[in-house]
Amino acid sequence: MLSSFENKYLVSGLGYLGAFAIFAFAVIRYIEGNLELALLDIILAVLLFSVSVFIQVTGKMRLAKYGAAAIALTGPLLILSYAPYTGMLWLYVVTATFYFFLPLKQATLFAAVLIISAGVLLFGEIDLLLFCSLIVTLSLICGFSFISAINSEHFRSQLLQLSKEDALTGTGNRRAFEIHADQAMWNFKRHRLVSSLIYIDIDHFKQVNDKYGHSLGDSVLQGVVRCVQGNLRQDDHLFRLGGDEFVIIANGAKLQQAAQVAERLRQDIESQNFSEYDISLSIGISATRAKDSVEEWVARADAALYQSKEQGRNRVSIEDADEIRA
Ligand code: GH3
Ligand code: MG
Repeated sequence: MLSSFENKYLVSGLGYLGAFAIFAFAVIRYIEGNLELALLDIILAVLLFSVSVFIQVTGKMRLAKYGAAAIALTGPLLILSYAPYTGMLWLYVVTATFYFFLPLKQATLFAAVLIISAGVLLFGEIDLLLFCSLIVTLSLICGFSFISAINSEHFRSQLLQLSKEDALTGTGNRRAFEIHADQAMWNFKRHRLVSSLIYIDIDHFKQVNDKYGHSLGDSVLQGVVRCVQGNLRQDDHLFRLGGDEFVIIANGAKLQQAAQVAERLRQDIESQNFSEYDISLSIGISATRAKDSVEEWVARADAALYQSKEQGRNRVSIEDADEIRA
């Protein structure tokens, strides 16, 4: 299925194309003197055109896609009852199209209804061998479309996951952080739910690399992440902003609660032995404020972190407050 069905111009464009093609058939039927089918084609073309305009103007895909699916389902079945041989060719296009714009379950349901209804309408009307071939080939198209939709959904969710994940440590990356930070700021502005940022930088990390090599440095980063994750509350989320800089969004935590989390974390890291090398963290904390922006929120945590570094490292500082541990 198209991701969130979001490309309204692509989808409405396809709809216009379909409406135009059906209208062309209406003209041919009219010239042939088949007024009933010409009228049916015109009705289908107008319906499809209307849904396409609706999509383009409102962008309301959820509603429109079921309208489009209903047209795609009933249209070929109606044509089939008047003209079995031309109608049956449309069944293939429509079956595959369901998987293009509907979620997997709904697409399969629509396709199954289409194939069964076509079977009921055509049984006894056409040659038995042709009938069997039609049902089998339609079922195969349905199966292949199903597998292809599952595959693309799988790759889509994997890509989405990877795009938000830091490759080395498996934590959220900067992009994921920005999404969560926006959400936390929105929760604060909408529901007054204060959240805090715990900005972390490993002290003298460059020396670890210089002394023991980059790959041991990588292991230390992974070890620090494991340790940090062991100290998080359920509503806390960890992200790696780059290098040896990490940030925790402590959802629903005021400064003092966040400071407790940070202090516990700092002590835990200090007490551990990372590959024979003593590691410590400098930490800065800020909380959401009225008329705040994410950038200002981060800048205040960063300034508090800078204060921790300035005052000798291995400590936690809170924005606009004295450090809580020297
Ligand atoms: P400070 O106490 O002032 O933070 O000193 P520092 O040495 O930690 O300085 P800084 O934070 O600027 O250094 C970060 C170092 O992290 C620099 C770079 O060599 C190292 N680094 C960045 N990304 C990676 C990585 O993916 N793996 C490893 N092993 N090292 C990295
Ligand atoms: Mg550092």
